[in-house]
Amino acid sequence: MNKIIGLLLFTFTLISCKTSEVEIFVENGLLIENAQIISPDDQTISPDSFIVVDGDSILYVGKDEPNLKGSFTTIDAAGKYIIPGLIDSHVHVTGTDALSDDEELDNPEIVKNFKEQLPKSYLYFGYTTLIDLGTAKPERLTDFQKAVIGPDLYYAGGGAVIGNGYGLSNWNDDIPNFIYQENEDYPIPEKYLKENHTPKAVAQRIASSGAIVLKTYYEPGFDPTQPRFPTPSKTLMANLKMEAHKNNLVLAVHGNSLEAHDFLGNAQVDVIAHGLWNWGNHRLDSTGVIPEAIKDVLDTEIKNKVGYMPTLQVINGLRELTDSNYLNDPELEHVLPNELIAYYKANSNTMYANVFGNAPKNIISNNFNRISNQGKVSMKYMNDHGGHLLFGTDTPSSPTFGNPPGYNGYLEMLEMENAGIPLGNILAMATIENAKAFNLEKLYGTVEEGKKANLLILNKNPLQDIMAYNDIEQVIINGKSLNRKNLSAKNVDE
Ligand SMILES: [Zn+2]
Repeated sequence: MNKIIGLLLFTFTLISCKTSEVEIFVENGLLIENAQIISPDDQTISPDSFIVVDGDSILYVGKDEPNLKGSFTTIDAAGKYIIPGLIDSHVHVTGTDALSDDEELDNPEIVKNFKEQLPKSYLYFGYTTLIDLGTAKPERLTDFQKAVIGPDLYYAGGGAVIGNGYGLSNWNDDIPNFIYQENEDYPIPEKYLKENHTPKAVAQRIASSGAIVLKTYYEPGFDPTQPRFPTPSKTLMANLKMEAHKNNLVLAVHGNSLEAHDFLGNAQVDVIAHGLWNWGNHRLDSTGVIPEAIKDVLDTEIKNKVGYMPTLQVINGLRELTDSNYLNDPELEHVLPNELIAYYKANSNTMYANVFGNAPKNIISNNFNRISNQGKVSMKYMNDHGGHLLFGTDTPSSPTFGNPPGYNGYLEMLEMENAGIPLGNILAMATIENAKAFNLEKLYGTVEEGKKANLLILNKNPLQDIMAYNDIEQVIINGKSLNRKNLSAKNVDE
């Protein structure tokens, strides 16, 4: 008897779920109807779905039409595609792109306009979460963080550079988190105590600053005619990894040469913050075949599940210094204030000379095309052999106008597609893979209940057309729906 009643009740519950609506109360809500939601995990599309947002989080995702009570607005997404907001896990938001500290002082109006536009430029191209991978001056992040509308920003604690190593250009700079390496014979200024610069002390300090990443560097230098910079020893890197993990920090390491990738792949760091484009004594020739020595290093990274950020735009962005026509790209007007584009145009030759000296532009351009292609071949190898690719652009990577905020991510995606990376993989890297790699998957990476309401409404299907990422209808950031047009730098003057 009881069993029968139980069964009846169970059946009734099932039926009532199907026929009645899901009742949800919202205070400050958003209802998205007729959504085609794309899952970055398995690249499936759920048509005719509903999404309910309240405040800054997703309350409901499903096929049953919710019966909303309370205060909300409705978006009809018929014919559109919904994906989670994009994550760029390697940016630097503290400066004004390509301007030195002195130039910033001389051009306060340009700096002010750039800083106001910067968060919007990332949103304009769909980047709703950013990770600033290391600045020695974290207080400079506050300009970005105080913007009323902007991406969610995470950061690596003030660059954990190796004493006398790359990134530590001057002991007079404020370098609170440099790491003292025992076997290096260097004097450290009196104001620093060795015991405050052990991996343990640095990791604790970085974690308590609110950072989620410990960033360090493996960089012997870019110019073989100059003495090497000190690089971390195996023991030091192992200690850094242990202390980073004890403090729930991800260990991300700068490195882009064969030597660096060899070291870092074997050290099993969490993430290498650049692709392998500097092939040492090897060169990409017209056959396009990847040398065995490069394969071996990448195979170790694949086996050890090391996160790999191709950062193709680092090399492309430098190459753009050879091309004055680059500054006429109309997309730049959406992400940079007019005055800054004009400043770049007026100073493009000086900017070139600051980086490349007297070297002829055609030689630099050819070399950088080859290096860029080496980076693409390495990335494709990683992709095709089960490597752990992550989406990071390193915007801006160097004093160049060739890494414009937001747009640089789109350019990186175009390059990935050019190199033969499937569109589904590009979407996964820039969403769920980044979220997982940086321990942010509870909040980001998919369109699911309980996650942050950072969503993109696209006019095209990004699994079929890479240009979908430049055809965004609306950007939803922290539950607020924004028309893309209003995020453009052009909009300010209208
Ligand atoms: Zn960087």
